Amino acid sequence: THFGFRTVPEESKESLVRGVFDSVASSYDVMNDAMSLGVHRLWKDNFISLLRPGSKGPVRCIDLAGGTGDIALRILDWAREKYADRETTVDVVDINGEMLKEGYKRFKKTMYHNTPQIAFHEANAQALPEDVFPSNSYDLYTIAFGIRNVTSIPDALKEAHRVLKPGGTFACLEFNKVTNPILAQVYDQYSFSVIPLLGTILAGDRDSYQYLVESIRKFPSQQDFARMISDAGFATGGNFEGDGGAWRDLWGGVACIHTGVKV
Ligand code: SAM
Repeated sequence: THFGFRTVPEESKESLVRGVFDSVASSYDVMNDAMSLGVHRLWKDNFISLLRPGSKGPVRCIDLAGGTGDIALRILDWAREKYADRETTVDVVDINGEMLKEGYKRFKKTMYHNTPQIAFHEANAQALPEDVFPSNSYDLYTIAFGIRNVTSIPDALKEAHRVLKPGGTFACLEFNKVTNPILAQVYDQYSFSVIPLLGTILAGDRDSYQYLVESIRKFPSQQDFARMISDAGFATGGNFEGDGGAWRDLWGGVACIHTGVKV
């Protein structure tokens, strides 16, 4: 079947993305490990260790495109293990109920299950219902490998800005642009041949993984994305060494962390 991702009109991107994650939900965690050779775990650990949730006391977090709860679990573990903090909370939000179900199942096996520390919500990052997610209510907004899937990045950033408290932190982990030409070539080879193949073998679903690769390609550069974050009303400078401090490349830009503070 032809997936036609290049010609998908914007308004149907949402249902396309929903379909992709419906079909990968049950195999998502296994595939993640296989595709990235487990490296996504290191990147996620890196992400959390930069954010240090709980270091200044318990925080209210919202994890967008939270999927199976990888980031939420790391936030809660970090707060508890480093600061004996059992009051930090995470609202996991995803547009896809199947992904959330996998997350819920997984949290059932943890000590956070049935505590106020964790909640799952089905909602769109671009339009969070105000009654459930009031303005100025979170200390930390995270989104990992999710923002490239939304139809309008500016709309998602606007919502992030709305729900964060003044002084609250926006943090995004996402695949990005590899700048080193040799590394870029290896990466291209890998992502356009190995990943769809792995998708076929492990999940019986080549098209969905082909979509994932394409969506990474289309995502704006580090610089352009940093600009979008600041356009949404965040202060982006000074958090990291180099690059004006708006982002930090991981593995030469294969992945990248952007942060901003709501002003
Ligand atoms: N954050 C998780 C992780 O790092 O393992 C999941 C990442 S997964 C690649 C992307 C997730 O984004 C999927 O669970 C998908 O359902 C979700 N998603 C896509 N578009 C969304 C939107 N508009 N609003 C909220 N979630 C969305």
